[in-house]
Amino acid sequence: MPGVDSESFRASRLRRLSSLDATAKKYGHLHMALPPRSLNRPTKDLPLDSPIHLADPLLDQGLASTGGMANGEVPLATPSIGTTSEDFALAFDIDGVLIRGGTAIPEAIEAMKYINGENPYGIRVPYIFLTNGGGKSEQERCDDLSRQLQSNVVPGQFICGHTPMREMAEKYNTVLVIGGEGEKCRIVAEAYGFKNVITPGDIIKTKPDTAPFRKLTEEEWNNSRTLDLENLQIEAVFVFADSRDWASDQQIILDVLMTKEGRLGHRSEVFNEGPPLYFSHNDVVWSTSHEYTRIGMGALRASVEALYKAVTGVELNTFAFGKPQIGTFQFATRFLQQWRSVSHGIDKPPATVYFFGDTPESDIRGTNEYNKVAENEWFSVLVKTGVYQSGTPSYRPNHICENILEGVKFAIEREHRKTKERGSLAGTEKKQNEENQPDGAEAQA
Ligand SMILES: [Mg+2]
Repeated sequence: MPGVDSESFRASRLRRLSSLDATAKKYGHLHMALPPRSLNRPTKDLPLDSPIHLADPLLDQGLASTGGMANGEVPLATPSIGTTSEDFALAFDIDGVLIRGGTAIPEAIEAMKYINGENPYGIRVPYIFLTNGGGKSEQERCDDLSRQLQSNVVPGQFICGHTPMREMAEKYNTVLVIGGEGEKCRIVAEAYGFKNVITPGDIIKTKPDTAPFRKLTEEEWNNSRTLDLENLQIEAVFVFADSRDWASDQQIILDVLMTKEGRLGHRSEVFNEGPPLYFSHNDVVWSTSHEYTRIGMGALRASVEALYKAVTGVELNTFAFGKPQIGTFQFATRFLQQWRSVSHGIDKPPATVYFFGDTPESDIRGTNEYNKVAENEWFSVLVKTGVYQSGTPSYRPNHICENILEGVKFAIEREHRKTKERGSLAGTEKKQNEENQPDGAEAQA
C-alpha cells in the first residue's frame, strides 16, 4: 500500500513534464555479439563499420516521425497528466510479451495503463518497444499496436527487426528484398531510401523457370516488375520479414549468392564472390497462437547456410541484425534516450532499464550481455506468456514473472524499494552529520 513512502518515491524519482530543451547523450561504439551457440554455425557477426554514425539519421527520422520536432513542439505519447519517472525506463519485446497471435495478451492492456499512471504511485514510466519482428512500416506497426494495446504508440518509441537496415540504403543501390506479405517489404525498403528494390516475384515473372513449382498469383504477377537480367547487378540481399515461400525464396537466394558479383547470368566458380546476405533477426522460433512455437527467420538462416554448403561445398557467412546483438541494444539505448528527451523532457539516461522478453536466446541473452558493457543497469525480465514457459531458461534472467502486468508491477515496486533504501540511507547520513557537527558558536569561539 502506498503511504508516506509513496509520496517520497514520487517526489524523489519524478519529474514534471517540462524542460523540453534536453539534448540526447551519445553512447559508445557498437559491438556485435556472437550468434546463439545453439546454432553452432560458421557465420560471423554483422560487420557494420560504424553503425553509431549510420544510426544518427535513423534516430532523427524515427523521432521526426512523431511530429513537431522542427518547430520545437514535442508531442507526448499520451496526454500530459501526472508525473514521469526519471530514473528508470522500460523496454518491451512484443510477440509473446504483449501480443500473441495478432491480439493483445490480456494483461498487456492493463500493463500499459499501469505504466501510464494507473498505479498506486500515480507515476508514468517512459518506454520503448524493441521487437525482432517486421514486415510492415514502423508507422503501420505502431498503428496496429496502438489499437491492440489500446494505448498510443508512435514510431519514435518503436524499433523493429529491419529498422536498422535503413542505414544500409546509402551503401547499396540495387537490393533483393525477401519476405513479408505481397509488396509490403518492397514498399518499406523504398521508404528507407533503397533506390532499386527487387523481389523474388520480379525474378520469377521475368524468368518463370527460376522456381519450377511456384506460380505467381494474379496480384503478384501484376505487382511484379520485369527485369533486365542481363544488366542487373544485385549488391545485397535483405531478409526483411519471414519468407512466405521458403522453397522459391531459398532457390532465388542461392542463385544470387552463387553469382559473380550479383549478376544472375554469371555463376561464380569459387562461390565466394556473391553479394552479402542480411537477416533482420535470428530468432529460430517464435510465439504465435499455436500451442507450440513456430519456426522463424533464424531457421531460414540456418537452412540457407546448410543448403549453400550442400550445393557448393563452401561455407556461407551471413549476417543478422536484431536481438541479441549488442549493437541493437546500444541503438535502443540511444533511441530511448531521445524518446525520453523529446516526449518527457528528461535530459539524463535512466539509471535502470527493465527489458521484458519471452525468448531467453534473444531477449534475455542480449539484455544480460549488454548490461555487462552498458553505463547503466539493464535488468532482464522473462515472462511466461510466449516462447519460454517453464523450467530453467537457457539464459538466466534477473527476474521471471507470469505475465507482463506482473513484470511492470515488479519493476515499479523494485524502484520504490530502492528509493526507500536511499531515503533511509540519506536519513542516516544526515543524522550522523548532525551528530558529528560541532556547535557553530562554540566552534568559532
Ligand atoms: Mg518475443
